[in-house]
Amino acid sequence: MKSKSPGVNTICTHVGELKDEQYKGAISPLYMSSSYAYENVDVKRYPRYFNTPNQEGLAKKVAALEHCEAGLIFGSGMAAISHTMLAFLRQGDHVVVQKTIYGGAYNFMVEELPKYGISYDFTDGFTETDFRNKIKPNTKVIYVETPSNPLMLITDLEMISGLAKEYGLVSMIDNTFATPINQTPADFGIDIMIHSATKYMGGHSDICAGAVAASEEHIKKIWNVGKNLGGSLSDYTVWLLERSMKTMGIRVKAHNRNARKIARWLNDHELVQKVYYPGLKEHPDHELAKKQMKGYTGMLSFELVSGVDPNKFMGSLSMIKQSMSLAGVESTILSPAKTSHALLSVEERERQGISDGLLRFSIGIENKNDLIADLEHAFREVSSNRLQKSLV
Ligand code: PLP
Repeated sequence: MKSKSPGVNTICTHVGELKDEQYKGAISPLYMSSSYAYENVDVKRYPRYFNTPNQEGLAKKVAALEHCEAGLIFGSGMAAISHTMLAFLRQGDHVVVQKTIYGGAYNFMVEELPKYGISYDFTDGFTETDFRNKIKPNTKVIYVETPSNPLMLITDLEMISGLAKEYGLVSMIDNTFATPINQTPADFGIDIMIHSATKYMGGHSDICAGAVAASEEHIKKIWNVGKNLGGSLSDYTVWLLERSMKTMGIRVKAHNRNARKIARWLNDHELVQKVYYPGLKEHPDHELAKKQMKGYTGMLSFELVSGVDPNKFMGSLSMIKQSMSLAGVESTILSPAKTSHALLSVEERERQGISDGLLRFSIGIENKNDLIADLEHAFREVSSNRLQKSLV
């Protein structure tokens, strides 16, 4: 019997795959051609038109996962964000942006939008009033990221889509941290889902890509800008990304499981001041996360108690790598103040609650006990160091 709507792992594996009619191979063939026939064809194909066979195939998978009609694949997450923003904003328009967002997206708003005569306001917080207070007569877009990088704060998706409908705005979410495995914002009325596919979609720390999913109408608007700005992805990387996404469902569930256990373990540790993980009951947005997420991701942040040197702690880890980026199968850790949010001013970092002692932990799919052993070793190293200091 044919199932009507395929399950998520079936979507990951099969939706959008290309048939190898010539040799009957099991996987999508890779079409590297940058030149296609133009006479007597339905579609004039060209890589920068986002419509090579591999691009179109993968866009279908992203759209199906996000419960949307259509999608587009980009050269990076920032290309996806910038093209999408510029598709819906023009001179004189205004955008309301959630208080805490990825540092690169923040920089795009602050450094690029004013050049186009587009104004923006960041909210003071995450409540309906915080968003409502910033909406102006010329506001066209409302932009959120949930869970947010790096504090894992949760924004109420129904509240955002409600405001967007009330004021006639286009709602956009950076759904990178959640992935469509854990969160499908279209089900809560959000218009446009954006991804840094460099993260969980790629999942192996070897791809830089972006993706967007939305209605046909919205995607057409983004495409119109995209063909002029030119942020498409090479077909070879599109093909690799398709391969990665086949295992996204099972990978993300393994990340979720590990993170949930390690969040609890860290939460009970005497050298940890605070853990930011929406799967913990202690997280201020836990109930909201439960309502709109199916899993809580492999991402968390934590603060060490004062007196513990975060650099010494990270330097004492052996399996968990100090590394930029996130969401690979291998566990990585970093200081947001020195990396993802380094380009923000000290005042802006403080405003966003990003202290120098905050560590962002991307929990991989290794065995949980091995990760805990690595953390335990690093804690022992910093606590002996702390003891020696207090004896001096
Ligand atoms: N959105 C989030 C939440 C991110 O963490 C990042 C990158 O770290 C981006 C967007 C930008 O993606 P990319 O680096 O693929 O351009």
